Amino acid sequence: MSQRTAILTQVAGFRGWKVQAGRWETKDGRRVVPVAGYDLPAEARLVLTLERRLAPRCAKCLAVGGTCHEKLPQRQWVDLPACGHPVVIEYAPERLRCKRCGARAVELLAFAEPQQRQTRRLQQHLALDACSMPLLHVAAKWGLGWHTVRRAEMAAIERWDKTMPKPALTMVGVDEKWLGRRHKLQEKFVTIVSDLSTGVPVWMGYGRDSETLKSWLDTLTAEQKKAIRLFATDMYEGFKKAIRDDAGLAHAALVHDPFPVIKRAGEAVTELRRAVFFRAGAEMRAVGKGARWLVLRSWDKSNEEQRAHLRRLFRLNGKLGRAYQLVEQLRTVLRSPDGKSLYDGLWHILRRTERRDNVPMRKLHESLKSHMDEIVALGEHHPPTGRIEALNNNWETLVRRGRGYRNHRHLLAKLRFITANPVGHVTGIKRFLALGLPVPFARAA
Ligand SMILES: [Zn+2]
Repeated sequence: MSQRTAILTQVAGFRGWKVQAGRWETKDGRRVVPVAGYDLPAEARLVLTLERRLAPRCAKCLAVGGTCHEKLPQRQWVDLPACGHPVVIEYAPERLRCKRCGARAVELLAFAEPQQRQTRRLQQHLALDACSMPLLHVAAKWGLGWHTVRRAEMAAIERWDKTMPKPALTMVGVDEKWLGRRHKLQEKFVTIVSDLSTGVPVWMGYGRDSETLKSWLDTLTAEQKKAIRLFATDMYEGFKKAIRDDAGLAHAALVHDPFPVIKRAGEAVTELRRAVFFRAGAEMRAVGKGARWLVLRSWDKSNEEQRAHLRRLFRLNGKLGRAYQLVEQLRTVLRSPDGKSLYDGLWHILRRTERRDNVPMRKLHESLKSHMDEIVALGEHHPPTGRIEALNNNWETLVRRGRGYRNHRHLLAKLRFITANPVGHVTGIKRFLALGLPVPFARAA
């Protein structure tokens, strides 16, 4: 190995492979000779011709050895750029006759997956970029086609998915999600089923009726159904029906997700606020300005300034103040340690929302009453519904940026990946960056 190829081999860093030669090329494959031995056009790309150092390895069974069945033509893989120059890897793989499994498969390559035209580490970077950038921007950044980026990203995420443990589902969250405006699908909603113990979505289907959920339930085996302890849903009747109609799920508890309850209560307050302001005088209007989001915020999360604003508002209108206080109380009640105290707390709220002349609050009353059992079940089972919030946030980001996903398998895979790897702590960051990429074949070829 000359000093030049030794350095290139060290930089390339594929264990078990060495760079046999390196050359500079233009994009269309014409040779570039550096002016005065070093001066290159910025877009010149480095082509590294690789060579195996050790015996080949069967890609099917990983057995070392095997004899050459067919020498395949030279192939190229796009790799991560080096020092600002695009890098391409070149190698002529062999089709092996494996002594152990008898396969006639192309040898195992340390740098790329079969059928892929980008190296594994480039795919990893594409997938990471695609977590926070639209695919079009990722494609522009790396100088690849949109479809190439998407394929590479999917390959990386699927590789990651294979490394994920698949625990049996015990607590299931069922949620409906809006697909956003920017797509031409007839169906505007999807149903997402997630594992509450990890928060990671496991299934996604178009539509939000009982048939949609049933189509997922039908894929489960009797054992899988038996393992499910509870379902947390937003009490959409269709979901409830699909679960109750399934004889294999008779034992599973139905629990109301707390967020839609708070959301529903927030809607009642908003409605009341509107009604109040409709008839309000100038003073009230002046105070009410900018209070739209304020009245939906919990007291704990408001700062001093916001609290003062709220106090001024409620001094002018006691009805709104009482409604706000009620939502605060509902928040506390939903966190009750057991079913009994949740039941008592809920009844207290129901008594305070009974009056028929306060229409928005009365509507909340009806809604709470009709879902009483499932809300009380919340206190009995305590599903970790907080994880669903992360899913919600990720969903919003993805859909807003996605400009309408045409392929829901792609969307689900991405959602799984982002939800399972929060970058809020060190292990999350490590897992996010590794993206299921093992140390490239410690004992490869
Ligand atoms: Zn084999």
